[in-house]
Amino acid sequence: MTVVQTALIRHADCALHQMGDAHPECPQRLDAIADRLISAGLDGLLMHHEAPQVTRAQLLRVHRPHYVDQVLAMNVTQGLVHLDPDTAMMAGTLPAALRAAGAAVMGVDLLMAGQAANVFCAVRPPGHHAVPDHAMGFCIFNNIAVAAAHALEAHGLQRVAVVDFDVHHGNGTEDMFRDDPRVLLCQTFQHPFYPYQGSDSSNAHVVNVPLAAGSGSAEFRAAIEQHWLPALEAFRPEMLLISAGFDAHRDDPLAYLKLVDADYAWVTRALLAVADRHCGGRVLSTLEGGYDLDALGRAAGEHVRALIEG
Ligand SMILES: [Zn+2]
Repeated sequence: MTVVQTALIRHADCALHQMGDAHPECPQRLDAIADRLISAGLDGLLMHHEAPQVTRAQLLRVHRPHYVDQVLAMNVTQGLVHLDPDTAMMAGTLPAALRAAGAAVMGVDLLMAGQAANVFCAVRPPGHHAVPDHAMGFCIFNNIAVAAAHALEAHGLQRVAVVDFDVHHGNGTEDMFRDDPRVLLCQTFQHPFYPYQGSDSSNAHVVNVPLAAGSGSAEFRAAIEQHWLPALEAFRPEMLLISAGFDAHRDDPLAYLKLVDADYAWVTRALLAVADRHCGGRVLSTLEGGYDLDALGRAAGEHVRALIEG
């Protein structure tokens, strides 16, 4: 009997993207996670996969053609070319971005083929701020949205849930699916805070829970229990996708929520329970933020441990 395990999808190209020595969205983030998976004894329990490059057609399901073609055509050989004040392209950016989105597509395919119990994509650049027609907030392509669209369009699913516990609101993902009732969006995020969106959404399939600066485990868990879980139960997703940002951790230097390592195990288990009830445990998670390297490694490690334990 084949044992179906948690899949870890990554690619060496994801370390090539480097937006300057002082930029917090740095290649060392992936090293911190990889090191922690080894030291915590988790690495050997994972099925390792190399991410393919996303295709233009897969990107066009959520991004506008002129933006995709602009990025694909950029041939930066030297220095940085800024796409937004926080987001730049350099020589290694395009291969990294293509692998980051390609990982999410591969993860969906593995789940649909029954070849993975669940999936974690340890990739960068992150994606959830990228909107249909431009880069934003360290994000080039919206990886989780590409995955959701792939599940809907390539696999014919009718109900896909995307949840996002990054400290920042995933405005790009919401822009892409705000008017698509096949996608349930559940988010928690610090508010008011970058990107200053998400507090005025009114669609029934958009569940935004703003949290005040200083909020910690109690407020976060209450938000999940009172808002996310009832919405997920009612929606009955056929696949559950996670924008897994770890920058709501109390040690994170970019934001002001106070989650601890154990909160990431707790929320992962709660989401797996929903997925077990409705879609055979089909969960795909992809890395978004998380900028304290030590806290990122620990929190992502707790997340992956919970995925492995199923
Ligand atoms: Zn973030």
